Amino acid sequence: MLSLLPFYSFNLTLFYKRDRIIEVNGESKKMERGDKFVLPGDFLGTSEEFIPGSGVYDEGGNLYASQIGEVSIGDNRVIYVHPKVETPPTIEEGDVVIGQVVDIKDNVTIVNIACVKGKEKREVAAPSQGIIHISNVKSGYVTELRQEFGYLDLVKARVIDAKTLRLSTDAKDLGVIKAMCMKCKRDLKRRGNVLSCERCKRVETRKLSEDYGKGLI
Ligand code: ZN
Repeated sequence: MLSLLPFYSFNLTLFYKRDRIIEVNGESKKMERGDKFVLPGDFLGTSEEFIPGSGVYDEGGNLYASQIGEVSIGDNRVIYVHPKVETPPTIEEGDVVIGQVVDIKDNVTIVNIACVKGKEKREVAAPSQGIIHISNVKSGYVTELRQEFGYLDLVKARVIDAKTLRLSTDAKDLGVIKAMCMKCKRDLKRRGNVLSCERCKRVETRKLSEDYGKGLI
């Protein structure tokens, strides 16, 4: 049982004192200083340096990670990748989330939350459907939610109630950040306070974030 062997867990920050450039299949690959968390297929080293342990496979003398996890190296030169699945982020009041509009009803917009700002690399735990009530869209009075959101829009919103996942877009940076033309599915371009389609010239309105179209979240 390899896992019962005593081994030291080296943090690669310490282990690799400098960036290492290694030739792999004619390509120079760099193992970054401080790399610790690896993905399947990440190059770890060569079979001359290490003995592949669990979570590592050997292909032509090069060792790669076979699973997501953390690298550690035993005192016997065995290199392991320990599986590590990050815990999904808990959504808290005040968090800014990015989601996609999946339904628009009379009083609420339903948003599938894709990620939490600042925790983008981690998937959101289910259930992750948030709602934007008509009173939380913006400071002005909203008569028709369909003038503020469109189906499949990407929105940036703040969590105002973490238990029920109530969201608000009432701030300059919050609101729709990406939208497509309802008619021809092209990305809409911002023109002042409205969105327009370059192909069919259709004009649509949204509760826009100041980050609309910037690719920023
Ligand atoms: Zn169009």
